[in-house]
Amino acid sequence: MSQIAFIGLGHMGGPMAMNLVKAGYNLKVFDLVPEAVKKLTDAGAQASSSASEAVDNADVIISMLPASKHVEGLYLTDNLFDSIKEGSLVIECSTIAAESAIKVANAAKAKGIRIIDAPVSGGTGGAIAGTLTFIVGGSSDDLSTATPYLEHMGSNIFHAGDNGAGQVAKICNNMLLGILMAGTAEALALGVANGLDPHVLSDIISKSSGRNWATELYNPWPGVMQQAPASKNYEGGFGVDLMLKDLGLAADSALKSNSSTPLGELARNMYSIHSRNGHGLLDFSSILKMYRKLDS
Ligand code: NAD
Repeated sequence: MSQIAFIGLGHMGGPMAMNLVKAGYNLKVFDLVPEAVKKLTDAGAQASSSASEAVDNADVIISMLPASKHVEGLYLTDNLFDSIKEGSLVIECSTIAAESAIKVANAAKAKGIRIIDAPVSGGTGGAIAGTLTFIVGGSSDDLSTATPYLEHMGSNIFHAGDNGAGQVAKICNNMLLGILMAGTAEALALGVANGLDPHVLSDIISKSSGRNWATELYNPWPGVMQQAPASKNYEGGFGVDLMLKDLGLAADSALKSNSSTPLGELARNMYSIHSRNGHGLLDFSSILKMYRKLDS
């Protein structure tokens, strides 16, 4: 049985690691937050006191960190590859800049370590249920080796291209997600301001041409969907600051490729104002608050 190291046990990494423990794998886990580690050790994983201790003798290393600076900090500044044995496979699941993914991949390959970028889509619900979508950049061989592990955490696996390509595809998806969530909040707020019940309007949209992931699974109006972060004071889920990071990555990619992304830029500015209004740690569907504030 392979030895797995899992680093970064937050909203996404925690339940992903839990699914591997439930599948019977030996996991050594590490996070800077002790409570996050405890949830996993209670379930049977082994705690490590550092990332280098976690990866010692591991066959597979999975990381799920917030942003590029954390991933580069761990693998490049802290030289984690020095502690990883040759031939091991790193599955880097964080959403980061494609350039960072390529830089980290080149450093891994220089030490004979295999690596794929495998950012995910599907939110915390998908992480808990083990139904995430993995969007992979790397070689076909490395993806084949990763697949049995990915299958315990997700139900869709796509091969976008070489190292970094997974991140490009993920950023395109998340730019659209930021736009569609703001658009859904705007439509619901308009309807409610004109006398509609948000439950009734949500039912109508979800069976009409405006339907989307938010109206089907992640409604931003509190109380419409009991399992959605909107019904839990916008706690848990995908943070405004993480969405802001992804929209910034999309803006960087647009600049580099001379692409026009006017809606992505508008959404980035909206989430930026929302974050500066003190909502950075709330779920990103809380963008609805911006419209309700404007209405009142
Ligand atoms: P999170 O902030 O909840 O978790 C990140 C974890 O990494 C934290 O527990 C933090 O303590 C830990 N960490 C940071 N630096 C570390 C280090 N050097 N060593 C060990 N642990 C460290 O974030 P999240 O919501 O789990 O998101 C993780 C990644 O997944 C992000 O890149 C995000 O964009 C992406 N993502 C999130 C969602 C979502 O719905 N939350 C969905 C898809 C993708």
